[in-house]
Amino acid sequence: MYPANFEYARPSTVEEAIALLGKYGDDAKVLAGGHSLIPAMKLRLARPKVVVDIGRIANLSYIRTDTHGRFAIGAMTTHAEIAASKLLKTKCPLLPETAAHIGDVQVRNKGTIGGSLVHADPAADYPAAMLALNAEMELVGPKGKRVVRVADFFVDLLQSAVGPDEILTEIRVPETSSAVAYIKTEQKASGFALAGVAAVQSLAGFRIGVTGVAPKPYRASAVEHVLAKHKSPKSEEIAQASMLAADGVHLGMDGMRPTGPRGQAGVEAIPIKAPHHVAHRLVVAAEHLSDPRHPRATIARQQDLAAAHHERLR
Ligand SMILES: Cc1cc2nc3c(=O)[nH]c(=O)nc-3n(C[C@H](O)[C@H](O)[C@H](O)COP(=O)(O)OP(=O)(O)OC[C@H]3O[C@@H](n4cnc5c(N)ncnc54)[C@H](O)[C@@H]3O)c2cc1C
Repeated sequence: MYPANFEYARPSTVEEAIALLGKYGDDAKVLAGGHSLIPAMKLRLARPKVVVDIGRIANLSYIRTDTHGRFAIGAMTTHAEIAASKLLKTKCPLLPETAAHIGDVQVRNKGTIGGSLVHADPAADYPAAMLALNAEMELVGPKGKRVVRVADFFVDLLQSAVGPDEILTEIRVPETSSAVAYIKTEQKASGFALAGVAAVQSLAGFRIGVTGVAPKPYRASAVEHVLAKHKSPKSEEIAQASMLAADGVHLGMDGMRPTGPRGQAGVEAIPIKAPHHVAHRLVVAAEHLSDPRHPRATIARQQDLAAAHHERLR
């Protein structure tokens, strides 16, 4: 299927792009890697009159250290560049590990971290890692720059904090130890997460992000709280904590109700490093909560997603 007709604009600076978004308002859409927007346009779920391609803007694709010792990643950096980054592999290994899980080679070569985060697909991989890393995002709009912490960034299903006249320009994450993990079970055809869990362990405790299960990604705070009581949690303690994987979380979409005993999948945890152990257990718990193998659940979820696409991407 072909998209409806649209005008194409190719600004060469962020300022030009912002001016175009201001001029065309809701009729305009930013184009980054196109791997979410173009399929939505082909399905006529998105019908922008003007597509603002930010792919030729210089300096939106980079991975570097900032003055605070964090890692600054340009919004147009592709999943493949993040997966291959030696700097991130050494200093912030959760991001390359997560990026390597996204889609297939073609998706990773074209899709961008900025596009993925702004799109806020409830089954996307990065959001879990962003929450586990306590990332922050820099947005530029007509009034200048503003910084949004990850806790405020994912607003709802397919809705991020980025306004229609704003552009996400940079994502910042801290250095971490190597005690990190991202584990997911995926939808076989697309690779999207049915349940994905990112875990970071530091001296301050665990930070755990979950994606794929609810309308928006969330931190498994109840699990973090229980694990904080253990310096080096044992397998049974992790299994116990994993039962709280969605405690206090609004699962939202129809067909995404818990149907089985939480976290009792009978899958053995992998005794590698604690975060792997934790993420693996939690992914199993999260799977049960979303019950993805239930055909009705999957259909209801797809219908919800299509409706939300229609609403948000018009
Ligand atoms: C077959 C297939 C499999 C996939 N599998 C996975 C998977 O396993 N895991 C996963 O996480 N994702 C998956 N994806 C999605 C993929 O990661 C997309 O690349 C990503 O979601 C969107 O990034 P993009 O650069 O292509 O953005 P685009 O499609 O260009 O844009 C997406 C949305 O974000 C907006 N936007 C983009 N960049 C900016 C910006 N800098 N500022 C403001 N607004 C912006 C656009 O206007 C649009 O609304 C898959 C996609 C496909 C087609």
